[in-house]
Amino acid sequence: MMPADAHLKTARVFFALWPDADMRIALDRLSGKMHALCGGRRTRANAMHITLAFLGEVPEARLAGLQTVAAQVRCSGCDIALTHLGWWPRSRIAWVAPAVTPQALSGLVHELQALLETAGFHFDERAYFPHVTLLRHADCRQPPAEMAALSWAARDFVLVKSVLTEHGPVYDVIGRWQLAAGSCT
Ligand code: ATP
Ligand code: MG
Repeated sequence: MMPADAHLKTARVFFALWPDADMRIALDRLSGKMHALCGGRRTRANAMHITLAFLGEVPEARLAGLQTVAAQVRCSGCDIALTHLGWWPRSRIAWVAPAVTPQALSGLVHELQALLETAGFHFDERAYFPHVTLLRHADCRQPPAEMAALSWAARDFVLVKSVLTEHGPVYDVIGRWQLAAGSCT
């Protein structure tokens, strides 16, 4: 049975692509290189991800509804070539991203957004820019223009609970779904 206060307690959640072990190692190396140039706080290797949709605080009683939404996704996986290093001066985040968003990834995000809307969930609606955060509090005015491309084979996606602590966020993967071999567009 659901605890009586389940409608009161909330969890901070988001959908994301989560790297496999090889990609995690490659991203960790890259964050090390960027850290040598730009300083700041490195993303922990086990926290590397690409956010698909950020929901923020959701009542715990509705987490099952999010799992139902995720299970309805029909879009295919895709390969994402991470080739582009950058830095946002306001947030002081250094990141790696694809030069252009693969169409299959936009399709996946749009499908997820449409399913979330239909199910009555609210999510952040800023223009979608897929990226992996490598450093926070960094100073990267001139990120390296060149990097060896990293090819991320996205074959599944996850639902993550984020617990903000004074040592940075702790991410807990609470669901994982395969991306079909077909297509959704
Ligand atoms: P911290 O907030 O302590 O720096 P964090 O940003 O990694 O840590 P969260 O704020 O829980 O942790 O965010 C989880 C993920 O969702 C991150 O990839 C973050 O960039 C992204 N995210 C957070 N807020 C938003 C938002 N309003 N819109 C889109 N994505 C967001
Ligand atoms: Mg944040």
